[in-house]
Amino acid sequence: MKRLMMLGPPGAGKGTQAQKLVEAFEIPQISTGDLLRAAKRNGTELGKQAAPFMDNGKLVPDALVIGMVKERITLPDAKNGYIFDGFPRTRTQSEALDEMDVVLDHVISIEVSEPELIRRLAGRRSCKECKAVYHLEFAPPTKADTCDKCGCSPLIQRSDDQPAKIKQRLIEYAAETSPLIEFYQGKGILVQIDGEGDPKEIKKRIQSALGT
Ligand SMILES: [Zn+2]
Repeated sequence: MKRLMMLGPPGAGKGTQAQKLVEAFEIPQISTGDLLRAAKRNGTELGKQAAPFMDNGKLVPDALVIGMVKERITLPDAKNGYIFDGFPRTRTQSEALDEMDVVLDHVISIEVSEPELIRRLAGRRSCKECKAVYHLEFAPPTKADTCDKCGCSPLIQRSDDQPAKIKQRLIEYAAETSPLIEFYQGKGILVQIDGEGDPKEIKKRIQSALGT
């Protein structure tokens, strides 16, 4: 059984690593955004209760979110475990998970220095026509500032990926996450992983930290 949760700031490669663990352990990745949309679409009881909050752009109450998570982890594909992504988001949600006897084995925190995160995020560019994504350093287009797929130029930088905005996002992430980190550290299940270097190496670090 591998009941995991992933934490990591924007640009840490959390999504990439979660995908590798999905394949390695054959367990599903569970994100509450996906769960909420599916419950609403399928018209489940919890979905019906959550719909008015979602339609009005309001936060769905923790009890509903956790109810959905609890249902989701009883499905057959989660029999060997699961990876929570973006959940729990707050200390209240982590405590509520405890109260509902949803147990986590490991909380994986992927840690990357601020200069490296800025390097990764600030180099992102995308094509405004076909939405192809590039990176000035890691995946540059063949011809400078021009989309390989459709020839559109210039490539654009999302406002979120400008250095001042990145710093702001990192501050918000730290404020949101530090109570969770403290909570899981206190339980002795926090696994801190150096998220710099080759993604394959990082995957190995995670697996060895989990004892697999
Ligand atoms: Zn393009």
